Amino acid sequence: MPISTEAAAVHDAATPIDLHADTPKLMSRGYDLALRHATAWPLSSYGGHIDLPRMREGNLAAQFFGMWTFPLPERGCARDIHRQLDALERTAAAVPDQLALATSADEVRGALAQKKRVGLRGIEGAHALEGDLENLEAFARRGVRYLGLLHFSSSGVGFPAKGWGRDDAKGLTSFGCEVVDASARLGVIVDLAHVNRKGFFDAVARKPGPLIVSHTGVLGAHAHWRNIDDEQIRAVADSGGVVGIIFAPRFLGGHLEAVVDHLLHVVKVAGDGAVALGSDWDGFVKPCDGLADAAQLPNLTEALLRRNMTPEAIHKLLGGNVLRVLEMAPPRVAVDPPRSSAQA
Ligand SMILES: [Zn+2]
Repeated sequence: MPISTEAAAVHDAATPIDLHADTPKLMSRGYDLALRHATAWPLSSYGGHIDLPRMREGNLAAQFFGMWTFPLPERGCARDIHRQLDALERTAAAVPDQLALATSADEVRGALAQKKRVGLRGIEGAHALEGDLENLEAFARRGVRYLGLLHFSSSGVGFPAKGWGRDDAKGLTSFGCEVVDASARLGVIVDLAHVNRKGFFDAVARKPGPLIVSHTGVLGAHAHWRNIDDEQIRAVADSGGVVGIIFAPRFLGGHLEAVVDHLLHVVKVAGDGAVALGSDWDGFVKPCDGLADAAQLPNLTEALLRRNMTPEAIHKLLGGNVLRVLEMAPPRVAVDPPRSSAQA
C-alpha cells in the first residue's frame, strides 16, 4: 500500500541502517544479493528478505550483515565466517557501483554520497572464535565491526538467554571476559543479543565502549524470554549504544504496530538516542506483516509519524543513532583489502 507524501518525504530524507540480517550464510550458498528476489510464500517467511534492488526501493541505506555458524562442533566455524566474508566481498566486487563494504561512519557517508548501498559486517555468536582470540583479530582485519557474544547455545564464552546449555545462574566465562576486553582493544563493538541476563551485565561491567543489542524485543512492551528489560535498556544507553528492535512477531507480540510499541518503549526508558532497527531479516524468523522485506521499510516511518514521533527523532531511530555509535567506536586495526580469493 502506498504511504503518504509526508511519510515518503521523511523516509527519503533518512539514512536507515539496520543492525542485523543473516544474509551472508545464504550468500555463501549462492544467494545473489544483486538480484531482486520474489517473496513467494512460504519460504519467504524465513529468508530472502533483502537484496540490493529492494534496499533501494525501501531506502535502506546500509545493512549490518550478521555472519553466523552452527555451533556444534566449533571447529570449522571460523572458516565458515571467512567464507561468508568472502561472499560479501565477491558481491561488492561484482557490483561496485551498487554496493560498498564499510567499516567507519566516514566510509558509510562516502559510499552513500556515491549513491551506493552499504554493507557492514558483524558476527553472531563468539563460538566462531573457536576459543582463539587471534581469530577475532583476523575478523576485525577483515572489517567485522561487531561481535555477538552468544547465539542459541552455550559456548566457551557464556550462556544464551535460551537454547542448548542454558544456565541462568552463570555469567560470562573467563574466556568470555577476555573476548569482551579484546573486542574493545580491536574496536569491535560488543553485541549483547541472545546473552543471558547475568552474562549481559558481566559484559556491561567491563565497559568495552558503546554496547549494542543488535536484534531484540523489550519486556516493557511484550513478555517473552527473548526480550530485554528496562535495566538492560538503560545499561546499553549509558554505554552510548543502541537497542535494535527486531521485526519478528513471535517476539514482539504483533506486527507493524508492535514494532512501533517496542521502539517507543526504548525511547520512553532511555531516550530517542538509544534506539535503532534490528530487523533479523533472513534469520529464519517470520517477519512482521508490513515489514516483510527491505522494500517495505517506509511503512515503519509512516507508522511512527502516526504515533506522533517527530521527523528528527525518526531520523535518529532509523540510522542516525547507529552512525553515532560507529563514530564512538572506530575500528582500531587496519582493515585489509579484500581477499583475492573472494574474486574467484
Ligand atoms: Zn539472532
